[in-house]
Order: sequence, then C-alpha cells, then structure tokens
Amino acid sequence: MHLTVPLLINPKAGSLFRSGLKSWLDDHRNDFTLVPTTSAEDLTARARELAEAGEPVIAAAGGDGTLMNAAQGLVGTQASLGILPCGTMNVFSRELGIGSRRFDIALDAIQNGARQEVDIFTVNDRPFLQMAGFGPDASIVKLITPKLKRNMGAAAHIITGLQVAVRHHPLITVTLPDGKSMSGTQIIMGNGKRYGGEAHLFADARYDDGKLDAAIIHQESMPILFEILGCMLQRGATRSNVSEFTNLCTFEECEITAEGTIDYQLDGDYAGTLHPGESVVIRRIPGRLRVCIPRTPIPTTPLGRFMSHPMVYAWRSFLRRAKDF
Ligand SMILES: [Mg+2]
Repeated sequence: MHLTVPLLINPKAGSLFRSGLKSWLDDHRNDFTLVPTTSAEDLTARARELAEAGEPVIAAAGGDGTLMNAAQGLVGTQASLGILPCGTMNVFSRELGIGSRRFDIALDAIQNGARQEVDIFTVNDRPFLQMAGFGPDASIVKLITPKLKRNMGAAAHIITGLQVAVRHHPLITVTLPDGKSMSGTQIIMGNGKRYGGEAHLFADARYDDGKLDAAIIHQESMPILFEILGCMLQRGATRSNVSEFTNLCTFEECEITAEGTIDYQLDGDYAGTLHPGESVVIRRIPGRLRVCIPRTPIPTTPLGRFMSHPMVYAWRSFLRRAKDF
C-alpha cells in the first residue's frame, strides 16, 4: 500500500529552495500531503493534532530547529517523525543515518525504513534534539545573524568563534542529583555523537540510552576551541583522548549554575542567558520520540559518504552496466 504522508512545511522558508527540496517535492507529489505552517508553535500544534488523529507517520521539512518543533508535538505519541533534512547543518538527521539533504534516502526511511525511539531532553522544560552548550559556544551562535549563516554557512562559526575566544569566560557548575558537582568554562551535552555537521564530539554517546553525555571543559579562551577541535578530529572524545582539563560524564538529570553571566544554545541556536544566582535544570522527557530511519544508514566516513553521493552512485552503476554489456 502506498503511504501518503502529511508533510509539515513552512512554504516561505528559504532553505526549501536553497536545498533543492522544493523541486524534489514537485517530483514526489504523490508521496506527501503538504501541511503549510505559519510559525514554530503552529508547527508543533499541527504535529500533535495529526498524531492524535492517528497518522502513523508525520514528516517535517527543515533543519534541526524545525525538527525540534515537530518533535515537541510528537514525543510520547505513537506517531513517527519522518525527516526531510533541508537545513544548513542537519545534525540530527545525520545522527540517524539519513544524512543531509538526501531526500531519496529520507523518503525510503519513511516508506520502508525502521522506527527508532529517541530520547528527548529539556533545558528548563524546553526540548532539544541533539545537543546543548553552555558558555563560549553559545555566545558564538548568539553572534551569528541569519544573514551571516546564509551567506557563509559553517564558516560563520569560525569567524564569530575568534571574536568570542578572546573574552573572559565565567566558571559554570554542573550539579548531579546525588550532589556531585563539576565545574568548567564550557559545558557541552550531547544526546548523540555529533556536534556540528558530521563532526563527532562524543565517541560513545547513544540517543536511546536514557542519558546525556557531557564534556566539562575547564580552560581559558582559545584552548577551549583546540580541545573541541581535537576531540572532533579524533571522531569524538573518550576518557583516553581528552586532556586533563576535560571531564566526561553521563547523567539523566542535572542542574547548571554560573558565577558570571553565560549564554546557552540548544541544537546550535542561541536559547538563553543565565545570570549568577539563577539555574537551569536539564532532564529527560519520560516518553520517547519515534523516528523513521533508513535500514542502511548513510556511511559516516568521508570516503563512504563520497562513494554514496548521488552523482558518484549514478556513475558507479553506469560503469557496472557498461562492464556487463
Ligand atoms: Mg544518550
């Protein structure tokens, strides 16, 4: 039976056109019923309504921010989220093996793929999908304007990164439910392995183990960046490859306080500022989010991804056919 899936979409989003999704959708009219949305809240509400109406799969087109809004409506329901990743980074989609802007793979995951349950954590009741950062990395994304992101893509992070690196960074403390606490100047929490694009920050994180992985980095300025980059170059931090200034841990719940004013980001978007005397609580939502994932995930090595690129794939099948001929 052919499954026609409701697709939550912001018809005015520029990413729709930039990513090529708009023209791809023109060729796949029979696979989706478009559900136009007007705002983030509207998208969450429509997702929830469709789930309550008994739709087995509800798709959303967008980057990590849009997917989070859809997830907010779907978490704890029986409906599965179908992902059409047309954002800039698409970290959550990569984590689930769907890749970035690979709409054929995304459609195959929706129609023939497996269903995976994923943990959703919240910061002061605001959910995020992939990661949360407290400190300099959040100050960096706070400085990135939509225009800069659009024009420069990932390079925007490097430019604003240098601006933030020269500042002083207040001490941030993570307190676990058992009273144990750890401090650092940059805290990063991951629901999965990836931090930005394809870069892995947590080598052993899993999105279905009920826990967040955290790196608590106690460094000044530039060394924070080097520590993060060093971990990413080694495909993620493990206890054996981080410096003595970084603590790795996992937890289900924690509280964060800071001795000075700090910023925090959720899934790469600036989410708020924490002042001395205030705290934020991070915890898991009891229900899980069901997501459509491909039976064969996209390879995570650079060579594997290159070989599975649609152009390379088409060329390889052409060569195979030519050989048989
Ligand atoms: Mg986990």
